[in-house]
Amino acid sequence: MIRTTRVPIRVPRALGAALCAALALLAAACGKDGSPPTKGPAADKLPHYRVDRNFTLPASGTWTRAKKRGYFVVGAKEDQPYLGEKDPATGTYSGFDIEIAKMMSASLGLPPSTIHFRTIASANRETALQNGQIDYYVGTYTINANRKKLVGFAGPYFMAGQSLLVRKDENDIHGPGDLEGRRVCSAAGSTPYQRIQADYPKAVLVGYDTYSVCVDNLLTYQVDAVTTDDAILIGYAAKAPGELKLAGDPFSKEPYGIGVPRSDNALRFALNDALEARQRNGDWKKAYEATLGLSGVPAPHPPAIDRYPAS
Ligand code: GLU
Repeated sequence: MIRTTRVPIRVPRALGAALCAALALLAAACGKDGSPPTKGPAADKLPHYRVDRNFTLPASGTWTRAKKRGYFVVGAKEDQPYLGEKDPATGTYSGFDIEIAKMMSASLGLPPSTIHFRTIASANRETALQNGQIDYYVGTYTINANRKKLVGFAGPYFMAGQSLLVRKDENDIHGPGDLEGRRVCSAAGSTPYQRIQADYPKAVLVGYDTYSVCVDNLLTYQVDAVTTDDAILIGYAAKAPGELKLAGDPFSKEPYGIGVPRSDNALRFALNDALEARQRNGDWKKAYEATLGLSGVPAPHPPAIDRYPAS
């Protein structure tokens, strides 16, 4: 393979800041600061989920409260293209994670249109579930042993892997081993952030609340790479095809789960049943094709559900 020498195009700090300000203005003109342009899935292509009106789950405190109130409060992301995006003009959320949240509400007996979505950043998910701020969380949330000590997980409903996003003019970064001395940005509290910190200590790690801020920093030469799941990065790359590209292969496994309060095993088991049913009846695939599939990656086989016992 021919490796071209990289001529670093360094943008002076002041210019970088000016570029950032210009970008922020542009983003604000589109209605939202710090995110790529919003372009959700076509509403007419989205599946309709049959609501199971007879569903009851008295053993679940979360479900009982939601039923009484008339809707679920669901935590999500708002700046992740094709996965969880909020239209700044209408306040409407869209994307694959949002579809998963909707099909789950329908299976648990409450119409998807009634869901109240709340944006919760990666670092705040466990607290939001522990405080009862949200009933469940659907937002590129990796299932792992540490988090299982704090919350419960239904699923997984999708398998992602950590990867790298760089500018089109970057020729020296092909994997995490090339990050030595380079500035790499990720969301605080995320598994990709933790992995760089633990396994690649020579990288210069920069943390923000959201990946969209990292992407703005990449476009303005404040950082050299953004790292998180490939599913998220593919969305940002697709929104700026002339400027950004993914580098190298995924270097972790990130199984996405639905976060629930840790003690609510009844809710977790019901969500596992619902996920399986929605995979069987084709809703999962239709939802994927109308959202994440728009990034150009065909529907994979959904991963097997992990029905771990209550502890
Ligand atoms: N899936 C990873 C995580 O749960 C990264 C994506 C995110 O921050 O939501 O930490």
